[in-house]
Amino acid sequence: MSTAPAALPAWLDPTPWLAVAATARPADVEAALACENPGARELAAMLSPAGEAYLEAMAQRARALTRRHFGDTITLYVPLYLSNFCSNGCAYCAFAADRRIPRRALTPAEIDHELDALASLGFEEVLLLTGERTPQADLDYLAEAVRRAARRFHQVAVEAFPMSTDEYRVLVDAGCTGVTVYQETYEPRLYDRLHRWGPKKDFLARLETPSRALRAGVHSVGLGALLGLHDPIHDALCLYLHARHLLREHWRAGVALSFPRLRPQAGDFTAPCPIDDAWLARLICACRICLPEVPLLLSTRESAAFRDGMAGLGISKMSIASRTTVGGYDRERDDGVGQFEVNDHRDIDTFCASLRARHLQPVFKSWDASYREHPQDLDTLTAHAG
Ligand code: SF4
Repeated sequence: MSTAPAALPAWLDPTPWLAVAATARPADVEAALACENPGARELAAMLSPAGEAYLEAMAQRARALTRRHFGDTITLYVPLYLSNFCSNGCAYCAFAADRRIPRRALTPAEIDHELDALASLGFEEVLLLTGERTPQADLDYLAEAVRRAARRFHQVAVEAFPMSTDEYRVLVDAGCTGVTVYQETYEPRLYDRLHRWGPKKDFLARLETPSRALRAGVHSVGLGALLGLHDPIHDALCLYLHARHLLREHWRAGVALSFPRLRPQAGDFTAPCPIDDAWLARLICACRICLPEVPLLLSTRESAAFRDGMAGLGISKMSIASRTTVGGYDRERDDGVGQFEVNDHRDIDTFCASLRARHLQPVFKSWDASYREHPQDLDTLTAHAG
């Protein structure tokens, strides 16, 4: 049964800005680039067909803004897949319930083993991933994994099943600092078709998940659209409007954007609206220009060459040495079936050397765990900074 809403909430309605993108001329793109306080209108102009010729100018402005707000640094994080059990039917995912793959969830001892391996590599921030809530990986399981990670890492984020505000409070108490939840596509009817069954079918419940996490005290939320599913201008405008809405409603919250592009995966789903490197680069630059202080993330879904080119050019945070298999950091146990194919296979040292060659400093720690236990210290720090 369809759960697609008849229309997007008013704050998420991209209709006026889609009209701008459809009719923008070069003069509109130039005005957007010269605008001191760019918003949705300027984003639409830069993403329009007329914006294609302005990639270099956009890149220059994006680089200057990234340097001003983030310095010459790239913050590093690493994902850890805890479980690939899932009851959802996302058409584009290798872990969907109808994929015939080996399923498993890490045991507490295996979680410790993986976390120790990642900590020994120097990481200070970890992203814990699961599929939909299942008996094998439920709230108690995730909270225990967060507790174990918080003993070793300064930042512990989760990318898992949507929860209630009270459930997110359990994770915050366990040491969770961030929640990532991609809307995948902001087009409700397509969303309904792609999410063939399962709790994820509820478009509005997912849309409201970042707000629930922030109300529970999570320090930051990560948003994203899975690029390739739908008209990228539509989903990019909605992603921007979603971020702006959260920043307005939760003014102390951190909001970050990711740019996941569909990769080959078990199930062989083909991207209906693929975007090329130039389009993705323009999207990242445009988002940097319109959201100058928001961290922008790029994962190992992208190639080494593309990531090298975008580091510092809008992008301020990157994963590296990622495995998308459960228990993927232990080569002996790695079963080889990942959620999607990784595209940048470099190790940490090679990646960091590449950043330094571009005069960028890799940063492993951008947050201190003591703020989790003593949030008043953060208030004091913020007051002094302000
Ligand atoms: S995207 Fe997430 S919820 Fe959907 S099938 Fe994959 S693991 Fe499950």
